[in-house]
Amino acid sequence: ARLPLIAGNWKMNLDHQQAIAFVQKLHWALKEAKHLDDSVEVGIFPPFTDLRTVQTLLDADKIPFALGAQDLSTKDSGAYTGEVSGAFLSKLNCAYVIIGHSERREYHGETDEVVAAKVQAALRHSLVPVICVGETLEQREESGPTAISVGQLEVALEGVPADADIVVAYEPVWAIGTGQVASPEQAQEVCAKLREVVAAKLGPDAGQRTRVLYGGSVKSANIASFMREPDVDGALVGGASLVVDEFAAIIRYQK
Ligand code: 13P
Repeated sequence: ARLPLIAGNWKMNLDHQQAIAFVQKLHWALKEAKHLDDSVEVGIFPPFTDLRTVQTLLDADKIPFALGAQDLSTKDSGAYTGEVSGAFLSKLNCAYVIIGHSERREYHGETDEVVAAKVQAALRHSLVPVICVGETLEQREESGPTAISVGQLEVALEGVPADADIVVAYEPVWAIGTGQVASPEQAQEVCAKLREVVAAKLGPDAGQRTRVLYGGSVKSANIASFMREPDVDGALVGGASLVVDEFAAIIRYQK
């Protein structure tokens, strides 16, 4: 069985001081309700400038959240002004890094090839890439629900070894930050297809082992319906991950 992953992508929200308060409150909320156990993995993805602070806090208070970054450079070091190396993220005990989020594809021109190079960079530094794929509404109408995501994932998995630890996140662009959530059946359809792509590219073991998440307007009110789907192994949560009680309720979806 795959361990469910509930991941909070903070995007460009919460500075490092706000991050301390937020993480402490979230930890208390879960601890108080005795909802910190091994049945679900909690991941938080703050801005780069928060990572050191959050790392220190998680460590000092023994808070069992996994830490991740929202992006990384394709390069490891050198004259690349403004870039952040996977080596640095690894040093900060980041376990994960989000790669190819639709906001980076749209606003920073990240192509499938750049995404693939970033996946390689993550693996070089023992970071688990959270590979984001998903179609716009226009693309869905034109090419159907799965073609775009399948194409994006195939390129991202180029050269990835069979034993690599990766996470895939299906985030339909039309469902991100819009409140227009995909139906559980729509999420299941694409997530199942993406699992097939992982199996075809990396082998059946990887297909079974790899967690495929759904993202896009996930809330405490709809998380359980997604988690009931056989090929949805968790969620990548944006807006709702910034509200302590709401994110805690999403994490507690099983209770
Ligand atoms: P929302 O949950 O705000 O729709 O954002 C989803 C997302 O983009 C997570 O990466």
